[in-house]
Amino acid sequence: MNKELDNMTEETEVVSHNFIENIIDDDIKEGRCKKVVTRFPPEPNGYLHIGHAKSILLNSGLADEYNGTFHLRFDDTNPMKEKTEFVESIMEDVKWICGDLDPAQIYYASDYFDQMYECAVKLIKKGKAYVCDLSADEIREYRGTLTEPGKESPDRNRSVEENLDLFERMKNDEFEDGEKVLRAKIDMASPNINMRDPIIYRVAHMNHHNTGDKWCIYPMYDFAHPIEDAIEGISHSICTLEFEDHRPLYDWVVRELEFENPPKQIEFSKLYLTNVVTGKRYIKKLVEEKIVDGWDDPRLVSIAALRRRGFTPESIRKFMELCGVSKSQSSVDYAMLEYCIREDLKLKRPRMMAVLDPVKLVITNYPENEIEYLDVSNNQENEEMGTRKVPFGRELYIDREDFMIEPPRKYFRLYPGNEVRLMNAYFVTCTDYVTDENGNVTEIHCTYDPETKSGSGFNARKVKGTIHWVCAETAQQAEVRLYENIVDEEKGVYNEDGTINLNPNSLTVMEHCFVEPALAEAEPMESFQFVRHGYFCVDSKDSSEDHLVFNRIVSLKSSYKPNK
Ligand code: ATP
Ligand code: MG
Repeated sequence: MNKELDNMTEETEVVSHNFIENIIDDDIKEGRCKKVVTRFPPEPNGYLHIGHAKSILLNSGLADEYNGTFHLRFDDTNPMKEKTEFVESIMEDVKWICGDLDPAQIYYASDYFDQMYECAVKLIKKGKAYVCDLSADEIREYRGTLTEPGKESPDRNRSVEENLDLFERMKNDEFEDGEKVLRAKIDMASPNINMRDPIIYRVAHMNHHNTGDKWCIYPMYDFAHPIEDAIEGISHSICTLEFEDHRPLYDWVVRELEFENPPKQIEFSKLYLTNVVTGKRYIKKLVEEKIVDGWDDPRLVSIAALRRRGFTPESIRKFMELCGVSKSQSSVDYAMLEYCIREDLKLKRPRMMAVLDPVKLVITNYPENEIEYLDVSNNQENEEMGTRKVPFGRELYIDREDFMIEPPRKYFRLYPGNEVRLMNAYFVTCTDYVTDENGNVTEIHCTYDPETKSGSGFNARKVKGTIHWVCAETAQQAEVRLYENIVDEEKGVYNEDGTINLNPNSLTVMEHCFVEPALAEAEPMESFQFVRHGYFCVDSKDSSEDHLVFNRIVSLKSSYKPNK
């Protein structure tokens, strides 16, 4: 089934290009594009999330595909919200998603402040920009509405000389914040409100993380962004759909500034996932209200959280391939992301035994104080991964749910009188059990049949159930964290009042688990399959030599059907 899926996506990749590739193909064919240069332009004002991963992979993937170049550009033109902390986290996330970056691929929009200033002067000299004294409220009032044209500012016809003088004085710190702005002179009657003389520079007395106090005027996004792209020789400036209405302004800026080979803006639709919180604003709220354990809480879908949870860059890449690129708005099922990580880890990671909710099992006819080492395959579906030695003894732990005093029909695991296979070991038959004063089972007694050792070729009789276990004497203690989506699937993400509809069961901590002793050596972020429980990864934040902590990445069961 999965092979089929692989073949299918490979074939469609060859025959049909997505709409962005079609545009690029045309631009190359018609000689408009000599070299494909793309960029990912985050504002360093928060952590990146899975939606950004889509943009990163789309842009870096196109650069690879067309032998071009990919830039990571920090869009740090708004000093109000930006922080160095975010620059570092974004760098780490982008490198994780698309492999290492050459330092020459990393750019900062704030490095172009001088050029942006010169661009503004050029527009003024062309009579295409003017200094305006209206207040923010007046500008809004003059802008008009969707149905009514705007009104011209009284300052619109200032002379070039006066504008040059005023703009220079804006730069030289002669005005208060909000006292004057520089506006593009386009068309106050345009049906597109973005074209009604938009503000391109404002006075803002703020310290910038890169340029310090050098500037007290800062460019607006819609003016800065096309200039950044043009300076870097970006051929295709790919952004999300909300910028579609800004494209005429983008084109106006690069045209009026007379850039050669101006970049072309192309919009695609954002990635939305069902049942997870993707909005930066909402993630921030969860972090600030301490509902989650920081930006990398494994229940979030920030890139840092996905990494900590145990997702791999390969699984995220596979996921984005399956999602495709389009202009239509839709949500993708979280189960598809889970499918991708299962597929990625299935043949790569060892399958180990771990008991999450332990109850002791004593094999009464097994020699006391003896430990034997059984040969166990690391991954039954990938023999190349070899075998390991797993200790086995008279006392084991099994998962509580694998034993029942009074089993329902079709329960094939352990119950009094029943025989099951201990995975990779022997057949055991339950002879007795012990309970505490509340009726909870505290110990299960069994006998084993030495003839039935796994791998011995024994086939005189069959059993219906196989259960996993760990040897009590050598077991390694661990904490295991199980996750569910942070929002309640049934009720939707947001309540009517805008608060998030939290799932009270999003985190279950199992504090007294037992795992195979080999797992004591596991490194942070290393992942494993725990048979029957799913895929797990060593928590990079809280796990230590004395206290192992595993995150469940995903269970083994899937609700996602890839060939649908
Ligand atoms: P903000 O609200 O702060 O602007 P943002 O998510 O747009 O948040 P940016 O740093 O501006 O953050 O985003 C960088 C790039 O990532 C932009 O090109 C943006 O279009 C793209 N991007 C953001 N969210 C998604 C998403 N859900 N799917 C695909 N691309 C996205
Ligand atoms: Mg943005």
